[in-house]
Amino acid sequence: MSKYITTIGLEIHAELRTQTKMFCDCLNAEEMHPNVNVCPICLAHPGTLPTPNEKAIMHVLRVGAALGGELASITKFDRKNYFYPDIPKGYQISQYDQPLVKNAVLECYVQGEKKSFDIERVHLEEDTGRLLHSDPSTSSGQATTRVDYNRAGVPLMELVTKPVLHTPEEAEAFASNLQLILRYLGVSYANMDKGQMRVEVNISICKEGEEKLGTKVEIKNLNSFRSVGDSIRYEVLRHEELLKKGKKIVQETRGWDENKRITFSQRKKESAHDYRYFPEPDIAPLVVGDHVLGEAVLKEISTKEIMTSLPELPVPRLERLKKEYGLDFKDAEVLVQQKEVAEFFEKSVSEAGELEHGVDKKKIAKLAHNFLISDLYGFLEGDTVEWGALKITPENFGHLVVLFARGEISSRVAKDVLREMFETGAECHAIIEEKGLKQVSDEGALETIAREVIAEFSDAASDYKKGKEVSLQFLVGQFMRKTKGAANPELAKEILKKNL
Ligand SMILES: [Zn+2]
Repeated sequence: MSKYITTIGLEIHAELRTQTKMFCDCLNAEEMHPNVNVCPICLAHPGTLPTPNEKAIMHVLRVGAALGGELASITKFDRKNYFYPDIPKGYQISQYDQPLVKNAVLECYVQGEKKSFDIERVHLEEDTGRLLHSDPSTSSGQATTRVDYNRAGVPLMELVTKPVLHTPEEAEAFASNLQLILRYLGVSYANMDKGQMRVEVNISICKEGEEKLGTKVEIKNLNSFRSVGDSIRYEVLRHEELLKKGKKIVQETRGWDENKRITFSQRKKESAHDYRYFPEPDIAPLVVGDHVLGEAVLKEISTKEIMTSLPELPVPRLERLKKEYGLDFKDAEVLVQQKEVAEFFEKSVSEAGELEHGVDKKKIAKLAHNFLISDLYGFLEGDTVEWGALKITPENFGHLVVLFARGEISSRVAKDVLREMFETGAECHAIIEEKGLKQVSDEGALETIAREVIAEFSDAASDYKKGKEVSLQFLVGQFMRKTKGAANPELAKEILKKNL
C-alpha cells in the first residue's frame, strides 16, 4: 500500500493593537454596539482619502525583524478588488508584490523537538466588516443578515508560510508560537476565540515519492489551536479515502463545523488574478531604511531602531530558563506562555538570591516554580483573576520562598501565607509575625509544648504507652494545633515519643 505525504501551508491573520484604524482616525476598540466606530473613510464614501497608520506599519516590521525576515526597503499598498457586503469600497487595501516582510523563519518546539518553518511573506491590510446572520428559526422565520462596520479598516497583519508543514502537531505549534510572539511584541492580543487571530489551513496530500503536490484545499473558520489540528486530521483522512477510491479532490474552500468536528464544502476557490490587484493610487510608496526618498509619506523608519526594540522572544527565553535555572523543558515552557509570568519568576528568584547569598540558585528556582505553578496559578484559576491584577509583588514572593528554603516556615504555612498574600497583597513577614506562624524549631520550646500536650491528653498518652499507635497520631495533631501548624510534624512526633 502506498503511503501519503501531507503538505500544509498556513495563512494567519492578526488584528493589530493600535489606537486608531489603519487608514482613518476611528478607534480600534471592541464595542458593544454595531457601527459606532465608523467614519466616511472606513465606510468608503466617495472622495475620502486614506492615511496609513504608522504604528501598524512598525508592528509588522517588528514581527518581520523578530522572525529574521527581509524588511522591505520600499513598499506599497495595492487594491484587492472584489464585491462583498462586508467591504463597502468594493476593494480591500492590501499588499500584493511588495509586502513589508519577505522570507522569514519561525523556530519552535514541536513535541519537544526544535524545528524551523519558512515564511513566504508578512504584509499589512485592512480588516473587513462583520456580517451577522440571523437564525430564521428564532427570528420571525426570515433569514436576515446585518452588517457591522466597526471592524472595517482595523489594521490586519497577514502572514503566509511556505508549504513546509507536514503534521497537525506542526501546524498547532506554529500557530501557538506565533500567537506568543505577537503577544511578546505587544502587537496583537491574538485571542483566537475573539477573532483577533484567525488561521487558515492550505492542505494537500500526494503519494510518497511524487514530485507534484496534490490538489489544494483551504480550511477556514478555525477558532482554536485544537480546531487547526483536528481539521487537518479530518482532511487527511478524507483525501486518502477519495484517492483510494480513485476519485479526484476538488480544489475548494471548506469550513470547519465546530460541533460535528468535520469540514464542509463552502465554495470553489478564486485564483489571485480574479482580484485584479493594482497599486493603491491614493497612498504613495513607503520607504523603510536609513535613507529617505522624496516621495515617502511617512517619516524615515530606521531598521536599527526596530532591531533594538525587540524583547527576548519565547523560544530563546525558554532555552535560557532551562540552562540558567536548571528547569526541565516542561517547567520552562509553562513559564514562557506569558511574558509577565516568566518575568515575575525571574525577578522573584533574583530577589531571593539577594537575601540568601550562597544559596543554591537552582534549588530556589525549583521551589519558586513549584509555588508559582502549583499554588499561585491554582488561586488565579479558582478566583478567575487575571495575572495583571495580581497583588503579590515578585520581591515579596521571593521572600516567602527564602523563608521556606531556610526551614523557617513549613510547607503548610507557606501555602496559607501565599493565599493571604494573594488575597490582600500583604507582605509575607508581616503575615507570619502577626499570626505567630514561624516554624518552631527551638528544641526547648517544643519540649514544653510536648509536655503540655501529654498532660492535657493524658488518656491518649497512656493508650499509646499501652501500644495503641493511633494515639500518637492524635497527639501529633494536637501538637500541630497548638503551634498553629508552625511546627515540623516529624520533629513533633520525635519529641512527643521522647517525652512519653
Ligand atoms: Zn473610520
